Amino acid sequence: MIKVENLHKSFDKVDVLKGIDATVNQGEVVVVIGPSGSGKSTFLRCLNLLEKPQQGKILFEGKNLLDADTNINELRQKMGMVFQNFNLFPHKNVLENITISPTQVKKESPEKAKAHALELLDQVGLSDKADSYPSQLSGGQKQRVAIARALAMEPTVMLFDEPTSALDPEMVGEVLNVMKSLAQSGMTMVVVTHEMGFAREVADRVLFMADGIIQEEGAPEDIFTAPKNPRTQDFLGKVL
Ligand code: ADP
Ligand code: MG
Repeated sequence: MIKVENLHKSFDKVDVLKGIDATVNQGEVVVVIGPSGSGKSTFLRCLNLLEKPQQGKILFEGKNLLDADTNINELRQKMGMVFQNFNLFPHKNVLENITISPTQVKKESPEKAKAHALELLDQVGLSDKADSYPSQLSGGQKQRVAIARALAMEPTVMLFDEPTSALDPEMVGEVLNVMKSLAQSGMTMVVVTHEMGFAREVADRVLFMADGIIQEEGAPEDIFTAPKNPRTQDFLGKVL
């Protein structure tokens, strides 16, 4: 579904991505792990062109996204993104947060968008929060709304950038459970996370990133029990 070739991204003169090659197959859950500052967020942000890479290719549904004629709005509909800090609209209630893009960008009728939003709220376990404002929700609830909001656009891929890093520990599980059932429903997902238990259990493939390249990748059982690269060994030694 996504094929990344020799992707390079620098900010000013700092090379952050130094030639990333990666593939994401349909229905696959790819988990990206690695030390802080290694370029994980930059990589995810390049996938939906929140950052513009200087070199390389991102093939998505057979087209190179770095071609000049890429429709960015269409791309972002197809690649939903969930951020560490939720990014909900504070002055809109939960229902409005979820329906704003479907009605404004996809021109869905308000009735249809609302019905879909209520289904999605049910899916993330928040049927009773449709009329609440973000400030009235816990972090875990906010993040589940953010997931529902991304799903409302009916993306074909979901990108998650450390979705549980800003949460109090007791709320991590409820968000990971929503992600897990999404994975089980067949959603294609790219997940940057420090939750190694989730990676082990849910990932089809784990990419270990350090210094702007994918140092090692493999099935979770291989990466976690028999990492080959010394950088991976060192990282896992610190986090496990
Ligand atoms: P990670 O998500 O793995 O922690 P990031 O992709 O956020 O890593 O950052 C990788 C490097 O790129 C860091 O050194 C960071 O300071 C730098 N960086 C990220 N975004 C920007 C930006 N918009 N401008 C300048 N430097 C950036
Ligand atoms: Mg990051």
